[in-house]
Amino acid sequence: MSETHSPTRRRLIDLASIGASSDSENNPFRITQRQLDAAAGILHLDPAIHELLSWPLRELHVTLPVRMDDGSVKIFQGFRVQYNDARGPCKGGIRFHIDETIDTVRALAAWMTWKCSLVDIPLGGAKGGIICDPRRMTAGELERLSRAYVRQVGHALGLEKDVAAPDVNTNSQIMAWMMDEFSFMRGYNEFGVVTGKPLALGGSVGREDATGRGVSLTVREAAKHIGLNLDGARVVIQGFGNVGSWSATLLQEMGCKIVGVGDISGALYNANGFDAPALQKHCRANQVIEGFGQGDKLSMTELLESPCDILIPAALENQITVTNAPRLKPRILAEAANGPTTPDADPILQANGVYVIPDFLCNAGGVTVSYFEMVQNAYDFYWDLPTVHKSLELKMVDAFHAVQTMAERYKVHTRIAAYLVAVNRVAEAVRLRGWA
Ligand code: GLU
Repeated sequence: MSETHSPTRRRLIDLASIGASSDSENNPFRITQRQLDAAAGILHLDPAIHELLSWPLRELHVTLPVRMDDGSVKIFQGFRVQYNDARGPCKGGIRFHIDETIDTVRALAAWMTWKCSLVDIPLGGAKGGIICDPRRMTAGELERLSRAYVRQVGHALGLEKDVAAPDVNTNSQIMAWMMDEFSFMRGYNEFGVVTGKPLALGGSVGREDATGRGVSLTVREAAKHIGLNLDGARVVIQGFGNVGSWSATLLQEMGCKIVGVGDISGALYNANGFDAPALQKHCRANQVIEGFGQGDKLSMTELLESPCDILIPAALENQITVTNAPRLKPRILAEAANGPTTPDADPILQANGVYVIPDFLCNAGGVTVSYFEMVQNAYDFYWDLPTVHKSLELKMVDAFHAVQTMAERYKVHTRIAAYLVAVNRVAEAVRLRGWA
């Protein structure tokens, strides 16, 4: 192990020192390691456990030949990182993205580990990714790519090992193909190998909007905590895919006004508030918000800096940085995306009094209902929607208050507090199993 990888060397104790580290590049995996270091210092974590939790347990790098519609064969690269399974089988989504890297997947797998621990479900963390541009692929090509991926990583998947799910640019149809390919490999139906499946194939009711619902529930709890009235509260959302659009719709139901939205096609602002379900319908039909025909056009930079009470980054990593953070003054930053804020931006937001709902708390609703889906698959007995909603609400509210209590007890930022709760539980499992 090189010196730069030694946790004792890397140990830092607060957000400001994370931001001030000489290692200031925005490599998401380095960011997760530095965040873990901060928590490990406060928890006085055993150095061997700290070191173990700083690295993925296993990772697969795969090469995928796929027959394209024009008859040619294209070669794709993919990854599956199983970060830690001390608390149960690995769990996490698969992303299709042109800018995917192994370090992004490692970071996302680490965050899945902390996320599952934080909402206290008996699962570890994993993530998968394929470098591809799904917008430029046909349904047939996507199906063949999905099946090729499962043929390569399938031996490492399974109910007892690692359960996949949708993430950026993947959906229930892709999960259905993956489950089907895996079932062929096994020789029998194994619905539970992926979650986020269509209802007809063992999916759970309430899975589709689960991440957005979790976001809205944590926003509700944060608003109560800081005394913000949600009635008329102005919300700006970056990213209007599954998570962003459901967060918008559900927050509007709670009384919020969705004043700004943006995606790869541009951004729109409407001080009177958009009709979130109508915008969601438009996006489903057109893939992008462009052409919605309401609101003033803005750049993405202007969108993030527009006046609002609740800012929700629901797209990709590293959107809130040292450059734009000084101009962001929402009361609540609800991190629906994974890793949207760089460590250097955190102390700036903190100084401006922004209440941050950290990513692996804010967006934990998806994996929570994925876990409910696994339970239903295992028993072959399916829940009704009120049961899913109630169970999700209990998990999200408990996790929110566990983080808030930790933040108060140790007088730390909510992000560090979330790590304290999550890392402590994983460390306990590692200790009890005798791994370190
Ligand atoms: N991709 C989602 C996440 O980042 C859900 C993962 C899952 O359901 O396993 O939390």
